[in-house]
Amino acid sequence: KPLLEVTGLTAMIAESKQEILKGVNLLVNEGEIHAIMGKNGSGKSTLSKVLVGHPDYEVTGGSVIFKGENLLEMEPEERSLAGLFMSFQSPVEIPGVSNIDFLHMAYNAQRRKLDEPELGPIEFYAYIYPKLEIVNMKTDFLNRNVNEGFSGGEKKRNEILQLAVLGAELAILDEIDSGLDVDALRDVAKAVNGLLTPKNSVLMITHYRRLLEFIKPTFIHIMDDGRIIRTGDASIAKVLEEGGYKAISDS
Ligand code: ADP
Ligand code: MG
Ligand code: MG
Repeated sequence: KPLLEVTGLTAMIAESKQEILKGVNLLVNEGEIHAIMGKNGSGKSTLSKVLVGHPDYEVTGGSVIFKGENLLEMEPEERSLAGLFMSFQSPVEIPGVSNIDFLHMAYNAQRRKLDEPELGPIEFYAYIYPKLEIVNMKTDFLNRNVNEGFSGGEKKRNEILQLAVLGAELAILDEIDSGLDVDALRDVAKAVNGLLTPKNSVLMITHYRRLLEFIKPTFIHIMDDGRIIRTGDASIAKVLEEGGYKAISDS
């Protein structure tokens, strides 16, 4: 069943009017894991930001259907309430706010908007507790301030915990592997894998093939100059390994 259908999507930087996305086509079905790879500057982050409705970009053409609805007509917040989640390349620190309070607020805000009852502190703790195990975090992690003094791997796992708390049908993970050593990467990947269900889909963006050893994609897309120029199964990662992105664009 189609979850996200991107057709001929073009977009420019709002300020400079420079066109970055030049006709992106992408189909993500329920339960699939898609990886988008490509050179630095090929437009991967722009695509993810356009999908969540980032104000720096202006869509100039094409369509995006999410769960049968026109995503481009929705406000960023509506997109998130509809089940779209995005992690960020550099998560922010929030001094003075504990992680559990932050997650609790975010969760209740979401429940309010969905007209569902909010959870009190004890109920929320019961809700989040089993999720800590999925992301391999200790409970004391909840009492630390959001991202303050977190290692790279902890920040990423904390984002996956946010995803676990808020839930999403489509999680866009932009470079969750950046700056991580192999052990931290394995932990983050384990957290993502722990959240996968037959209904939920993941769009992961990465510059490196290494991540794909830990999270096995259904499809890999190669992005170049604002377009997806090639789609294949996991075997195209092998071509990349052997010849780099040049081998992909030449073949
Ligand atoms: P990738 O994530 O594949 O490395 P990006 O989507 O971040 O690529 O960027 C694609 C191109 O668009 C780059 O040349 C980048 O400098 C430019 N770009 C993207 N967003 C902006 C912005 N807000 N302002 C100026 N240039 C931008
Ligand atoms: Mg980049
Ligand atoms: Mg990027």
